[in-house]
Amino acid sequence: MTNIVLNLQAVRDRITTACIASVRDAQSVRLVAVSKKFGPDAVLQAVAGGQRLFGENYIAEGVEKIAAVTPRLSAGVLLEWHCIGPVQSNKTRLVAEHFDWVQSVDRLKTAQRLSEHRPEGRAPLQVCIQVNIDGGGNKSGVPPGELEALAIEIAQLPGLQLRGIMAIPEPTPDFLATCAVHQKAKALLEQINSAGRLPLRLDTLSIGMTDDLEAAIHEGSTMLRVGTAIFGSRS
Ligand SMILES: *Cc1c(COP(=O)(O)O)cnc(C)c1O
Repeated sequence: MTNIVLNLQAVRDRITTACIASVRDAQSVRLVAVSKKFGPDAVLQAVAGGQRLFGENYIAEGVEKIAAVTPRLSAGVLLEWHCIGPVQSNKTRLVAEHFDWVQSVDRLKTAQRLSEHRPEGRAPLQVCIQVNIDGGGNKSGVPPGELEALAIEIAQLPGLQLRGIMAIPEPTPDFLATCAVHQKAKALLEQINSAGRLPLRLDTLSIGMTDDLEAAIHEGSTMLRVGTAIFGSRS
């Protein structure tokens, strides 16, 4: 077995252990393998190890990789590609045409363009709004106080299906501090769902990466984005 397949198994074991510790069903957490800076071969190794969800930060790199990987898949294997990096206005068409999910929407303008550019006949683009949950000054993401208003607008766009929120907190010193930040994201999602001003229920809480996936699962993550633990360090 390749390292990537072994690494994937180790990550799945971490997820299972964390779910048991939090008395959660391991099926309630989806794993996005973040393949940025790794090539098509690395993706295909992960596919051989059973991985189906992949995340890319850089649009041009991601689109190129999708094009390289897709013809090499065995019949019946369908991948789900997640855009998790900043979406510049001039990239919305590429994203809408090539990705299945975008987790990094934080402006209405971007969402409108993604909706317009989603090709007819394809399922709506699945969207998470990125939230700046810990107030990091120069970070992407809407401030928590602006989330609901943006969500209400995005929920109406025909080419998109709003699914939830994504956050990338700053590294924190210990498990409890990390849990506290993730807990804020979980609380925000619950607050919006219970306020009932959205025409739909948000079911996705995308938090947790290589270093904090246990804390994220503890606080209710439904989607992890893991790169380093699967593919190795990006140097
Ligand atoms: C790179 C990246 C990840 C993966 O981070 P690792 O620490 O390598 O697991 C997850 N989410 C986003 C938005 C990223 O940019």
